[in-house]
Amino acid sequence: MTKRRRLIAGNWKMNNTIPEGVVLAQEISNHFERDYADHLDVAVCPPFVDLKPVITVFEFDRTDIAVGAQNVHWEPKGAYTGEISVGMLKDIRCEYCIVGHSERRELFGETNEEVNLKAKALISGGIKPIVCVGESLSMRDSGAYLDYITAQVRAAFAGIDAPAAASCVVAYEPIWAIGTGRTATPEQAEEACAAIRVQLSELYDQATAESMRILYGGSMNEGNADLLLAMPNIDGGLIGGASLNAKSFIKIIEMAL
Ligand code: PEP
Repeated sequence: MTKRRRLIAGNWKMNNTIPEGVVLAQEISNHFERDYADHLDVAVCPPFVDLKPVITVFEFDRTDIAVGAQNVHWEPKGAYTGEISVGMLKDIRCEYCIVGHSERRELFGETNEEVNLKAKALISGGIKPIVCVGESLSMRDSGAYLDYITAQVRAAFAGIDAPAAASCVVAYEPIWAIGTGRTATPEQAEEACAAIRVQLSELYDQATAESMRILYGGSMNEGNADLLLAMPNIDGGLIGGASLNAKSFIKIIEMAL
């Protein structure tokens, strides 16, 4: 079985002005031991305006932490007021981009089709998509949540071939656990992540599915990360609230080593 390299990614959401973002990046950089990067990948996903300053902090310090965006448009350029292209992200050395976060799906109407277009555009531009999927509480209570999540995976990866899919990360983020302090149990998270991997093996092949990283996200913090990360199909975390505190974020990274 392929040994997957874990990924701990922080989603700053709409938090931190440029000065605040630089201070947080500097704190993370100061606490980040050089050998962490021998064992796992770490990324932070700040708001658009913070991307370049945060990248500059890590590059100046030679800290091996990647930077990702939280959204992108699939068209390369043109009359799309308010949007950012893959080329623009690539130009400033973004390595990841979150797509299909439940907040974007719920608050901004991002559809499965758009998630797919964004993922394809990112792959073509050499940026790794972090494709978010996850069910609402009512969907979980209905019992049909695994069907719902795997359908989101099929839609996100439509028309993407195996080598391209292998560059992608999937994040299982149950909506009822995001920002609520109510974390999925390790067993609940593992069940969903395992189902996602089975779905990927059906879409592609066993080797591709085994090579792809599947993260858990939803109120992950230094108090629960170790048990979640101990699950065989959980290859890291997408961390919101706890990634806004350098010490908490570093503790989670250390738990993933
Ligand atoms: C997220 O926004 O991706 C997330 C998981 O947030 P939180 O950790 O705050 O629940």
